[in-house]
Amino acid sequence: MAEQAHILAPSILSADFLHLGEQIAACESAGADWIHVDVMDGHFVPNLTMGPLIVEACRRATKLPLDVHLMVESPERVLEAFAQAGASHLTVHVETCPNLHSTLQEIRALGCAAGVTLNPGTLVTAIEPVLHMVDLVLVMTVNPGYSNQTFLPETRPKIAVLRRMLDAIGSPAWLEVDGGISVQTLPEVRQAGANAFVAAHAVFAYPKGITAGIEALREALS
Ligand code: ZN
Repeated sequence: MAEQAHILAPSILSADFLHLGEQIAACESAGADWIHVDVMDGHFVPNLTMGPLIVEACRRATKLPLDVHLMVESPERVLEAFAQAGASHLTVHVETCPNLHSTLQEIRALGCAAGVTLNPGTLVTAIEPVLHMVDLVLVMTVNPGYSNQTFLPETRPKIAVLRRMLDAIGSPAWLEVDGGISVQTLPEVRQAGANAFVAAHAVFAYPKGITAGIEALREALS
């Protein structure tokens, strides 16, 4: 399938883990583009979520790219395990990577797309030196750690600045947003220049179900 101009990436953080396979299949048949996996280590962020075993299970459940977001200290220690489990993209936080350039090189060497992300309180200049070497830039639009948070509107200008920076160097990298994305907030982050959208609660807790949730987000994009 050709990649779409706008990517919808349901985050399984809000999925029902007793029915994870069925819920991922529902996302895929409803037209989701990637499956986003929020990995939290209980150190970099207070919450503790999932590891390579879940990624390996997701890999068996879908052919969609697995967009793995590592909210972990010292991510270089776990890159290989997640790559072997079937991650397609590995995104690391600049706040956790003193050797960001080499960490991104390592991700590429493992055969994965390399992503970098930054928290709402981190300046875009922190990732400017590596923008030319990433496949994906993820802007956190909430403070990472939990699902179903409220979108922080002050992150919107940061999306616009990164869109200009990527365009200025001719980068085809995806500009992804994560946190509080819903039918209500999606149009404004799209307008700011994002082209990949993570949604957890807005898909898995949508009152009319996963398929309707994805359709509503796709509608908000059109
Ligand atoms: Zn995420």
